[in-house]
Amino acid sequence: MNTPKYKRIMLKLSGESLAGEQGFGIDFDTVNRISKEIKEIIDMGVEVGAVVGGGNIWRGRSSGDMDRTTADYMGMLATCINAMALQSSLEQLGVMTRVQTAIEMKEVAEPYIRRKAVRHLEKGRVVIFAAGTGNPYFSTDTAAALRAAEIEAEVILLAKKVDGVYDSDPNINSNAVKFDKLSFTEVLEKDLKVMDSTASSLCRDNNIPIIVFALDEPGNIKKVLCGENIGTTVGN
Ligand code: UDP
Repeated sequence: MNTPKYKRIMLKLSGESLAGEQGFGIDFDTVNRISKEIKEIIDMGVEVGAVVGGGNIWRGRSSGDMDRTTADYMGMLATCINAMALQSSLEQLGVMTRVQTAIEMKEVAEPYIRRKAVRHLEKGRVVIFAAGTGNPYFSTDTAAALRAAEIEAEVILLAKKVDGVYDSDPNINSNAVKFDKLSFTEVLEKDLKVMDSTASSLCRDNNIPIIVFALDEPGNIKKVLCGENIGTTVGN
Protein backbone atom coordinates (compact mmCIF):
# COMPACT_ATOMS: atom_id res chain seq x y z
CA MET A 1 0.00 0.00 0.00
CA ASN A 2 2.12 2.83 -1.29
CA THR A 3 -0.39 4.97 -3.11
CA PRO A 4 -1.46 8.09 -1.26
CA LYS A 5 -5.20 8.49 -0.86
CA TYR A 6 -4.99 12.25 -0.74
CA LYS A 7 -3.26 14.87 -2.86
CA ARG A 8 -3.30 17.79 -0.41
CA ILE A 9 -3.33 17.37 3.33
CA MET A 10 -3.15 19.40 6.49
CA LEU A 11 -0.97 17.93 9.20
CA LYS A 12 -1.65 19.18 12.71
CA LEU A 13 1.26 18.71 15.07
CA SER A 14 0.67 19.57 18.69
CA GLY A 15 3.45 21.38 20.51
CA GLU A 16 3.68 18.35 22.78
CA SER A 17 4.52 16.12 19.82
CA LEU A 18 7.75 18.09 19.29
CA ALA A 19 8.84 17.77 22.91
CA GLY A 20 9.72 14.08 22.92
CA GLU A 21 10.07 12.27 26.26
CA GLN A 22 10.92 15.42 28.21
CA GLY A 23 7.41 16.80 27.63
CA PHE A 24 8.63 20.38 27.40
CA GLY A 25 10.54 22.45 24.85
CA ILE A 26 11.83 21.10 21.55
CA ASP A 27 13.52 17.73 21.21
CA PHE A 28 15.43 17.78 17.93
CA ASP A 29 15.65 13.99 17.62
CA THR A 30 11.88 13.93 17.68
CA VAL A 31 11.52 16.87 15.29
CA ASN A 32 13.99 15.28 12.87
CA ARG A 33 12.09 12.00 12.96
CA ILE A 34 8.84 13.82 12.14
CA SER A 35 10.61 15.71 9.34
CA LYS A 36 11.80 12.43 7.80
CA GLU A 37 8.22 11.19 7.81
CA ILE A 38 7.05 14.40 6.15
CA LYS A 39 9.80 14.07 3.54
CA GLU A 40 8.59 10.56 2.75
CA ILE A 41 5.14 11.82 1.81
CA ILE A 42 6.48 14.88 -0.03
CA ASP A 43 8.55 12.46 -2.12
CA MET A 44 5.30 10.66 -2.96
CA GLY A 45 3.98 13.89 -4.47
CA VAL A 46 1.61 14.82 -1.66
CA GLU A 47 1.11 18.53 -0.93
CA VAL A 48 1.60 19.16 2.76
CA GLY A 49 0.40 22.06 4.87
CA ALA A 50 1.27 21.90 8.55
CA VAL A 51 -0.08 23.70 11.59
CA VAL A 52 2.05 23.50 14.70
CA GLY A 53 0.84 24.00 18.24
CA GLY A 54 2.66 25.69 21.06
CA GLY A 55 1.74 23.73 24.18
CA ASN A 56 5.32 22.49 24.66
CA ILE A 57 6.30 26.10 25.38
CA TRP A 58 3.22 27.98 26.53
CA ARG A 59 -0.52 27.59 26.74
CA GLY A 60 -2.76 30.61 27.17
CA ARG A 61 -5.36 28.84 29.26
CA SER A 62 -2.87 27.77 31.96
CA SER A 63 -1.44 31.22 32.55
CA GLY A 64 -2.78 31.89 36.05
CA ASP A 65 -3.51 35.54 36.77
CA MET A 66 -2.30 36.94 33.45
CA ASP A 67 -5.01 38.38 31.25
CA ARG A 68 -6.14 35.82 28.71
CA THR A 69 -5.43 37.89 25.62
CA THR A 70 -1.78 38.50 26.52
CA ALA A 71 -1.36 34.85 27.45
CA ASP A 72 -2.88 33.77 24.14
CA TYR A 73 -0.56 36.04 22.15
CA MET A 74 2.35 34.44 24.00
CA GLY A 75 0.96 31.06 22.93
CA MET A 76 0.80 32.20 19.31
CA LEU A 77 4.42 33.34 19.48
CA ALA A 78 5.34 29.93 20.89
CA THR A 79 3.89 28.30 17.77
CA CYS A 80 6.24 30.47 15.67
CA ILE A 81 9.26 29.13 17.55
CA ASN A 82 8.08 25.59 16.87
CA ALA A 83 7.39 26.38 13.22
CA MET A 84 10.94 27.63 12.75
CA ALA A 85 12.36 24.53 14.41
CA LEU A 86 10.35 22.31 12.08
CA GLN A 87 11.33 24.42 9.08
CA SER A 88 15.00 24.16 9.91
CA SER A 89 14.80 20.42 10.41
CA LEU A 90 12.93 19.89 7.10
CA GLU A 91 15.38 22.06 5.20
CA GLN A 92 18.31 20.04 6.52
CA LEU A 93 16.71 17.09 4.73
CA GLY A 94 16.42 19.10 1.52
CA VAL A 95 12.67 19.66 1.80
CA MET A 96 11.60 23.10 0.63
CA THR A 97 9.48 24.97 3.12
CA ARG A 98 7.82 28.26 3.87
CA VAL A 99 6.60 29.47 7.22
CA GLN A 100 3.58 31.76 7.02
CA THR A 101 2.47 33.58 10.15
CA ALA A 102 -0.99 34.82 11.06
CA ILE A 103 0.66 37.67 12.98
CA GLU A 104 2.92 39.72 10.79
CA MET A 105 6.65 39.39 11.54
CA LYS A 106 7.99 39.70 8.06
CA GLU A 107 11.68 39.71 9.01
CA VAL A 108 11.14 36.20 10.33
CA ALA A 109 8.59 34.62 7.99
CA GLU A 110 6.05 35.41 5.30
CA PRO A 111 2.70 36.76 6.38
CA TYR A 112 -0.17 34.37 5.71
CA ILE A 113 -1.47 34.91 2.18
CA ARG A 114 -3.75 32.14 0.99
CA ARG A 115 -2.92 32.39 -2.70
CA LYS A 116 0.80 32.33 -1.96
CA ALA A 117 0.37 29.36 0.33
CA VAL A 118 -1.43 27.43 -2.39
CA ARG A 119 1.28 28.29 -4.91
CA HIS A 120 3.97 27.04 -2.51
CA LEU A 121 2.07 23.80 -2.05
CA GLU A 122 1.78 23.33 -5.81
CA LYS A 123 5.55 23.73 -6.04
CA GLY A 124 6.08 20.96 -3.51
CA ARG A 125 6.97 23.19 -0.58
CA VAL A 126 5.75 22.35 2.89
CA VAL A 127 3.84 25.36 4.16
CA ILE A 128 4.01 25.67 7.92
CA PHE A 129 1.23 27.86 9.25
CA ALA A 130 2.33 29.60 12.43
CA ALA A 131 0.73 31.90 15.02
CA GLY A 132 -2.53 29.96 14.93
CA THR A 133 -5.45 31.98 13.64
CA GLY A 134 -3.83 35.21 14.83
CA ASN A 135 -6.65 35.68 17.34
CA PRO A 136 -6.82 35.06 21.06
CA TYR A 137 -9.46 32.63 22.42
CA PHE A 138 -8.78 30.24 19.55
CA SER A 139 -6.56 27.18 19.32
CA THR A 140 -4.17 25.75 16.80
CA ASP A 141 -6.75 22.99 16.18
CA THR A 142 -9.08 25.72 14.96
CA ALA A 143 -6.21 27.16 12.90
CA ALA A 144 -5.72 23.73 11.30
CA ALA A 145 -9.43 23.51 10.46
CA LEU A 146 -9.52 27.08 9.11
CA ARG A 147 -6.38 26.79 7.00
CA ALA A 148 -7.43 23.34 5.76
CA ALA A 149 -10.68 24.85 4.51
CA GLU A 150 -8.87 27.79 2.93
CA ILE A 151 -6.24 25.76 1.08
CA GLU A 152 -8.82 23.07 0.23
CA ALA A 153 -6.99 20.27 1.98
CA GLU A 154 -8.83 16.97 1.61
CA VAL A 155 -8.16 15.80 5.14
CA ILE A 156 -6.63 16.85 8.45
CA LEU A 157 -4.15 14.39 9.91
CA LEU A 158 -4.30 15.02 13.63
CA ALA A 159 -1.13 13.62 15.16
CA LYS A 160 -1.51 12.83 18.85
CA LYS A 161 0.12 10.96 21.71
CA VAL A 162 -2.75 8.44 21.72
CA ASP A 163 -3.58 6.25 18.74
CA GLY A 164 -7.15 7.45 18.20
CA VAL A 165 -10.31 8.58 19.92
CA TYR A 166 -11.55 6.56 22.91
CA ASP A 167 -14.83 6.57 24.83
CA SER A 168 -12.83 7.47 27.97
CA ASP A 169 -9.23 8.33 28.75
CA PRO A 170 -7.15 5.20 27.94
CA ASN A 171 -4.42 6.41 30.33
CA ILE A 172 -6.88 6.23 33.21
CA ASN A 173 -9.34 3.53 32.14
CA SER A 174 -7.76 0.29 30.87
CA ASN A 175 -11.18 -0.75 29.46
CA ALA A 176 -11.48 2.36 27.30
CA VAL A 177 -12.75 1.48 23.82
CA LYS A 178 -11.26 3.00 20.68
CA PHE A 179 -13.54 4.20 17.89
CA ASP A 180 -12.62 3.38 14.29
CA LYS A 181 -15.07 5.92 12.92
CA LEU A 182 -17.09 8.75 14.36
CA SER A 183 -19.26 11.56 13.09
CA PHE A 184 -18.62 15.17 14.07
CA THR A 185 -22.10 15.29 15.57
CA GLU A 186 -21.20 12.34 17.86
CA VAL A 187 -17.93 14.04 18.80
CA LEU A 188 -19.76 17.24 19.69
CA GLU A 189 -22.71 15.55 21.44
CA LYS A 190 -20.56 13.18 23.49
CA ASP A 191 -18.01 15.93 24.12
CA LEU A 192 -15.21 13.58 23.02
CA LYS A 193 -11.79 15.14 23.29
CA VAL A 194 -10.75 15.16 19.63
CA MET A 195 -10.43 18.85 18.89
CA ASP A 196 -12.07 21.73 20.67
CA SER A 197 -15.68 22.33 19.67
CA THR A 198 -14.91 25.39 17.50
CA ALA A 199 -12.49 23.33 15.41
CA SER A 200 -14.84 20.33 15.22
CA SER A 201 -17.79 22.39 14.07
CA LEU A 202 -15.67 24.18 11.47
CA CYS A 203 -14.65 20.79 10.07
CA ARG A 204 -18.23 19.53 10.19
CA ASP A 205 -19.62 22.61 8.44
CA ASN A 206 -16.96 22.47 5.73
CA ASN A 207 -16.97 18.69 5.37
CA ILE A 208 -13.28 18.18 6.18
CA PRO A 209 -12.56 14.73 7.62
CA ILE A 210 -10.02 14.28 10.40
CA ILE A 211 -7.88 11.25 11.04
CA VAL A 212 -6.58 11.01 14.60
CA PHE A 213 -3.50 8.82 15.00
CA ALA A 214 -0.39 8.34 17.12
CA LEU A 215 2.75 10.04 15.95
CA ASP A 216 5.08 8.11 18.27
CA GLU A 217 4.94 5.02 16.09
CA PRO A 218 7.39 5.62 13.21
CA GLY A 219 5.90 5.44 9.72
CA ASN A 220 2.38 6.30 10.79
CA ILE A 221 2.00 9.47 8.70
CA LYS A 222 2.59 7.47 5.53
CA LYS A 223 0.35 4.63 6.71
CA VAL A 224 -2.54 6.97 7.42
CA LEU A 225 -2.04 8.71 4.12
CA CYS A 226 -2.13 5.43 2.24
CA GLY A 227 -5.42 4.52 3.86
CA GLU A 228 -4.30 2.07 6.55
CA ASN A 229 -6.89 1.93 9.26
CA ILE A 230 -4.72 2.74 12.26
CA GLY A 231 -6.48 5.64 13.97
CA THR A 232 -9.94 7.09 14.26
CA THR A 233 -11.59 8.80 11.31
CA VAL A 234 -14.05 11.57 12.06
CA GLY A 235 -16.30 12.73 9.25
CA ASN A 236 -19.88 13.70 8.39
N1 UDP B 1 -3.47 30.42 20.47
C1 UDP B 1 -4.37 31.47 20.29
N2 UDP B 1 -5.01 31.57 19.08
C2 UDP B 1 -4.84 30.67 18.07
C3 UDP B 1 -3.95 29.60 18.28
C4 UDP B 1 -3.28 29.49 19.48
O1 UDP B 1 -4.56 32.27 21.16
O2 UDP B 1 -5.45 30.83 17.00
C5 UDP B 1 -2.68 30.35 21.73
C6 UDP B 1 -3.43 29.76 22.90
O3 UDP B 1 -3.04 30.46 24.07
C7 UDP B 1 -2.91 28.34 22.96
C8 UDP B 1 -1.48 28.50 22.52
O4 UDP B 1 -1.53 29.54 21.54
O5 UDP B 1 -3.01 27.79 24.26
C9 UDP B 1 -0.82 27.27 21.95
O6 UDP B 1 -1.68 26.65 21.02
P1 UDP B 1 -2.39 25.24 21.33
O7 UDP B 1 -2.75 25.13 22.78
O8 UDP B 1 -3.48 25.05 20.33
O9 UDP B 1 -1.18 24.27 21.03
P2 UDP B 1 -1.12 22.66 21.14
O10 UDP B 1 -2.05 22.24 22.25
O11 UDP B 1 -1.55 22.12 19.84
O12 UDP B 1 0.31 22.40 21.42
